[in-house]
Amino acid sequence: GPAHSATLDDLRFGADGLIPVVTQDARTGAVLMQAYADRAAIERTLDTREATYWSRSRHEQWIKGATSGHTQRVVDVQLDCDGDSVLYRVEQRGPACHTGEYSCFHRPLQTGEAPAAGLDGTLERVYGTISERLATLPEHSYVARLHAGGLDRVLKKIGEEAAEVILAAKNADRAELATEAADLMFHVLFAMAEVGVSPGDVAAVLQGREGKTGLKGPKEVG
Ligand code: AMP
Ligand code: ZN
Ligand code: ZN
Ligand code: ZN
Repeated sequence: GPAHSATLDDLRFGADGLIPVVTQDARTGAVLMQAYADRAAIERTLDTREATYWSRSRHEQWIKGATSGHTQRVVDVQLDCDGDSVLYRVEQRGPACHTGEYSCFHRPLQTGEAPAAGLDGTLERVYGTISERLATLPEHSYVARLHAGGLDRVLKKIGEEAAEVILAAKNADRAELATEAADLMFHVLFAMAEVGVSPGDVAAVLQGREGKTGLKGPKEVG
């Protein structure tokens, strides 16, 4: 509130005249990117409500989206407790990352050799994408279309995909089984996102059973 409001003089720019800026999607809360701003860029951001930075590689003021069209309308600007970093909360138009990804943060860091095809991180990432699409409902999005069709249709689809998994496994068709398992998992993740169950909730159940032997299957539990 106003009691905590601050001015440009409360900002502590580095020796290079720059301050880190974290940019957040005001609708989803997702962190979109991190960049730098000088005093003039912050002033321009406040004046125009258009997210403006300082490009350290190009050594010039950088209006996000000036060339890509993926501009950011700034809802508000906050500084942190000690004034050495800034938060832009924005309405993002198009992807924030120049790679075309929604957020610049789409590279889960692992120690050592990344597994060739780790399922855990992938499921989590896909769940994140589904949640983001559900929050923004972009045109042309499959998730948005599934959402519009209603949960019952998706639940029926889960049954169909499960049947396809069974068939592929019976035929020992490895390529088909991989595809159908992916279809099944995607639609299960969609249902989880709609109902508000996170990958962590499922992981907790699985991890609670890990390293145990002689567990009863779901149908055997009395
Ligand atoms: P834009 O500001 O979207 O028109 O992009 C102009 C240039 O800025 C791009 O070609 C990239 O070099 C760079 N750029 C755009 N978005 C980002 C970002 N989120 N993080 C880092 N560099 C970016
Ligand atoms: Zn700080
Ligand atoms: Zn990026
Ligand atoms: Zn399928």
